Amino acid sequence: MELQIQNISKTYAGGTRALNNVSLTIQPGMFGLLGPNGAGKSTLMRTIATLQEADSGTIRLGGIDVLGQKHETRKVLGYLPQEFGVYPHVSAEELLDHFAMLKGITNRSQRRDLVRRLLQQTNLYDHRKKKLGGFSGGMRQRFGIATVLLGDPKLIIVDEPTAGLDPEERTRFHNLLSEIGEQVVVILSTHIVDDVSDLCRDMAIINKGEVIFADQPFHAILMLQGKIWKDIIKKHELADYQAAYHVISSRLFAGETQVTVYSETQPGPTFHAAEPTLEDVYFWAINQSKEEV
Ligand code: ADP
Repeated sequence: MELQIQNISKTYAGGTRALNNVSLTIQPGMFGLLGPNGAGKSTLMRTIATLQEADSGTIRLGGIDVLGQKHETRKVLGYLPQEFGVYPHVSAEELLDHFAMLKGITNRSQRRDLVRRLLQQTNLYDHRKKKLGGFSGGMRQRFGIATVLLGDPKLIIVDEPTAGLDPEERTRFHNLLSEIGEQVVVILSTHIVDDVSDLCRDMAIINKGEVIFADQPFHAILMLQGKIWKDIIKKHELADYQAAYHVISSRLFAGETQVTVYSETQPGPTFHAAEPTLEDVYFWAINQSKEEV
């Protein structure tokens, strides 16, 4: 099942244009939607998840008209929002069992098997008796995925799932996502480039409500091959460098300032060639889109 987003626009009541003619085609597998805070990612995710209306445009999931057939969409959708409440005084096992019951699995042993499988899959089996209120951020996120998987969805949306997780929890969460079947469309919305480079075969970058780049990470990195140069400079030299070169990013590196420059040829004798990364692609695309305005 393919997800087709066509010309989606949304302006909020206050006048913020959150989405401007967004079109994307998303195949089964992991898809990364990358963009800075305020880019419009959550607005797009909530629209696909039928939680809010778009002003115009269409979204199709296989044969389903997402915006017109909300009920049909919700049957095949698993949505894990940025923030979700859990019942703090209930255990993971009890709540999953309850959700399975709501889903219509009335046979007790069938339900028990399913709940056990999900708890094992999300690495929470040892914590199954623990109250959800005592769960860490990472455990909560994994519990969220367990509830999402319970519905056997064809489309899974996870919005900023790793924000606030420590590196170990993040890796665990990545491993869990990577095990979700290849037949399911999984959209990972994030401002963390590494989430996408670790997991996604395909991606898009959005900024200020517009898709500014859409390609496979692998292709995107190839495109910058031989064009990324780095130099270590003094902090006060940055403005001069920005004036002289196409600086796509700068950051502190071992207490000094490292600039990354986009150039077809070596920009200067002190620059050294660097292997492009997805982070370079990201900053390059954001810079390009600023220049086009
Ligand atoms: P992201 O998820 O990429 O951080 P959002 O979709 O949350 O971006 O926000 C896009 C823009 O829309 C931002 O400028 C944000 O302030 C604005 N926005 C988001 N939700 C609302 C809302 N309910 N009402 C008004 N403006 C909103």
